[in-house]
Amino acid sequence: MAHSNGKNGSFVYRRGNALASSSARRESPSRKWMTEPKTILQEPALEELRTAAKEAALHSYSPYSGFRVGAALSLTNGEVVTGTNVENVSYGLTICAERSALVRAVAQFGPEIRVAAAVVVNLNDAPSPPCGACRQVLAEFMDADGLVSFPGGAAGAVTTITLPMREVLPYGFDLQLKR
Ligand SMILES: [Zn+2]
Repeated sequence: MAHSNGKNGSFVYRRGNALASSSARRESPSRKWMTEPKTILQEPALEELRTAAKEAALHSYSPYSGFRVGAALSLTNGEVVTGTNVENVSYGLTICAERSALVRAVAQFGPEIRVAAAVVVNLNDAPSPPCGACRQVLAEFMDADGLVSFPGGAAGAVTTITLPMREVLPYGFDLQLKR
């Protein structure tokens, strides 16, 4: 994937040492994302992610709600990983598209992955911001200025909202044990 200057239809890609210190991240994984904002994706890369997410949403297993959601994650290693929601007859075991994509990304590329941008779509022309659980799970693998894009607004009048993770999850849980 291009690491470019944002001209001619490509996206801006800035990366510092987000991947350089894996041992430090193991010591404090969630605090790392609060302090190392390094990667920014812009349109039209986000639009490409929306297309990928829509394709994933076609595979949604949602016989109970009929709400078909897709997510696409752009990883800092240049890969794109998608996911969709998988419902369950017990309802509470349903997994959202965002977490579906995230666990797939870890399974495919390992625990050191970092997510540059996460895009959510649905095929129901309805708002679908990431739920609280998905925000926390995405934050584990995203820098504070990594982008999260999702359908907002109201049913039938959906608008796309794109925000940095720090605004999507301003007070995420962080484990800080007293020594
Ligand atoms: Zn969710």
